[in-house]
Amino acid sequence: MASVPQNSANNLNTDIKVISTAKNRALVLALMLGLFGAILNTFPIELAYNISLLIGNLSFIIAAAYLRPALTLLCALICVAPLLVIWGHPFGFLTFGLEAIFVSYLRGRGWYLPTADFLYWLVIGMPITALLIWLNNPETQGIFVFSLLKQAINAIFYTSLAVITLFFISTKLNLRIRSQQPRLVKNLKQYLHYILWIMSAFFVVTVFLFLSRSLNQVQEQQFADKLDISSQYLASIIDNYVDEHKSAIAQLANRLSYLDAAQYHDALSQVHQLYPGFLTMLIANKEANIVSASPRSLIDRLPQSALSIADRPYFIQAFYHQSLYTSGVFLGRGFGADPIIAISAPIYESMNDKPIGIVEGSLNLNLFEQVNRYAAQDRQIDVVLTDENDNVIYGESSLALTPLAQFNFSLATGQDQDELMTIGTDDRQKQRYLYRKVVLSNQWKLYVLIEHEQVLQLIEQQYLTIFMALTIIFMLVIILANQLANTLNKPLAFALKELASGRENSGYRAIPYDAPSEFLSLYDELKQSKRKLLKQQVILEKQVEERTKALNDANKTLQELASKDSLTGLYNRRHMTTKFSELQAILARNNANMLVAMLDLDHFKQLNDQHGHLIGDQCLVAVGKTMQAMFDRRSDIVARFGGEEFIIVAQNDGQGQLLDKLEALREAIACLTIETDSPKEINLSISIGAIITKASYSNNIDDWLVLADQQLYRAKANGRNQLASHQLTNES
Ligand code: GH3
Ligand code: MG
Ligand code: MG
Repeated sequence: MASVPQNSANNLNTDIKVISTAKNRALVLALMLGLFGAILNTFPIELAYNISLLIGNLSFIIAAAYLRPALTLLCALICVAPLLVIWGHPFGFLTFGLEAIFVSYLRGRGWYLPTADFLYWLVIGMPITALLIWLNNPETQGIFVFSLLKQAINAIFYTSLAVITLFFISTKLNLRIRSQQPRLVKNLKQYLHYILWIMSAFFVVTVFLFLSRSLNQVQEQQFADKLDISSQYLASIIDNYVDEHKSAIAQLANRLSYLDAAQYHDALSQVHQLYPGFLTMLIANKEANIVSASPRSLIDRLPQSALSIADRPYFIQAFYHQSLYTSGVFLGRGFGADPIIAISAPIYESMNDKPIGIVEGSLNLNLFEQVNRYAAQDRQIDVVLTDENDNVIYGESSLALTPLAQFNFSLATGQDQDELMTIGTDDRQKQRYLYRKVVLSNQWKLYVLIEHEQVLQLIEQQYLTIFMALTIIFMLVIILANQLANTLNKPLAFALKELASGRENSGYRAIPYDAPSEFLSLYDELKQSKRKLLKQQVILEKQVEERTKALNDANKTLQELASKDSLTGLYNRRHMTTKFSELQAILARNNANMLVAMLDLDHFKQLNDQHGHLIGDQCLVAVGKTMQAMFDRRSDIVARFGGEEFIIVAQNDGQGQLLDKLEALREAIACLTIETDSPKEINLSISIGAIITKASYSNNIDDWLVLADQQLYRAKANGRNQLASHQLTNES
């Protein structure tokens, strides 16, 4: 008794052990997949300009196929850990952690991994990413759609990669891991949807990503070339422009050295006409007073006090230092308040190296817009020109730079080697640019810029294209899968129906659809088997029929054996009782009379002793035959009661007819001659005791037999070989 609880305790222990090893294995799987994913995620695949592809996340998608949400989350958190360092923010834990929980949960409810993941990004992933971008990263808001699509396409990529990986490793994994997730049962159509979608998504995304990667590299190179070429080109134009005007001033100064003061005006106007880039031009004498100006009208408008330019650097530099001078940018005074650059040169008296004045031209900065036609035509390019002190000489209007103000920018190093320039201080207006800086011969600086957003927008367009392509492919896949499933299902259904209808004579119809050859040969084999089966069935039916007949015959024999006496062939006592009950019931219902007679051979012991048992048996058979011959109505019951005693039960329909019949029987038996070899004579006689009354008297045979036996006793007592009968009336 004590061993029973012992056993169940042992079972419990092994159960717990099995469960705990299964749990340990699941934990090990989560950790290993997590580690593998983390290693992959440590080396993201660079696509273009800080955009990289994460493939390590495939690990936790694989995990979701086997593990419940808690362990899948654990796996995901390990996978995503390297991103904390690479991205510098912890948002990956949120979006990918939720993704792991969501996908594992839906997988547990019988969803496919790709569908679950797609739903996640649509309903949760992209909205959360959008919110995070909006809250934390205003710089990327210009490429909002791109930032969202990037995540979704990345997810489609690693999910399909995960499913494809599962195709290869699931057989091996299933041997080691008992999955915590339910089995997925797919019908043909679903299976085709699944396979076709995964394959096409994987290949489309892979091909796209690598095409776009090389495309982006080409583009990147193009942008770099464009920056190089245009910066060089613009630098030379500006250098030329300034040089041209400088040499114009130098030549004019030289010419003026040979002219009278009276001729200054004409010479000045002539040069001004040739060089419209000068906003104004002037000539000052050695006292630093303006003596001539172009346009001429300017000098008339000037008050006397403003005629002196003694404090201007362009006078001081040209007159005292005797150099060809180019100023920084400053606001004009006197002739106007425009931002200008002054170019000045000393005028000498002929053949004398003592200056007698200066000539100056104010270079109109707005004219750079004309210089910069090149940039204006090319919408991709922005240009900023600063003087040697980093004050803005010219900036494209879209940049909203204030002329003469300090050019404010910061340089940020991205993940790639290229530095990005950020202009603007207000967070919302911050713009990032790819740039080239060229220092001109006069120490001015030229910046050629390409908006980083433009670059990203190109990639965004590519991503939109792939997203559209995926959507179209998804729809095509559904149509194609349906078509394929029908192609396979239709002939299959036809073949099954044809086989089920089981027509053998007319033969099976050929499949009227295009079907794979495997199908056709399978159909042929099935047809043959079905034919064999039908043949076999016919044989079997025949056999069953024969066996059943034999069985029935045997049964009948058995029944006869059970109901008949083997020696005489009469009913035996048991069967007689049954037959009596049937007859009595019918006769009682009809209120008819019934006869029960008991018959006993006289001195039979003696006969046996004299002639032997075999002769005795012959006598019994002969008596039986005689009784059967005389009581041959369907309802008559003639039975051997036992030994040399017999019973006759019969319907009593007429007046004394049955008693006459019994009397005749007695006589017939007395006259029987039994053929024997023995010389001794055989004296055979029978005594009969009969009772006649209403069948309703009793349904118990014994009640009748008691009365019949009394009559038989009377017949024996009266000397044997006679009939004694009694008619029972209602009164008696
Ligand atoms: P009674 O006139 O008083 O009926 O005398 P009896 O000898 O017929 O009466 P008893 O009952 O003493 O003897 C019956 C004998 O019937 C005994 C037995 O030897 C014989 N007997 C019973 N069954 C068979 C049988 O199947 N075959 C033969 N040959 N004899 C049988
Ligand atoms: Mg007897
Ligand atoms: Mg007897």
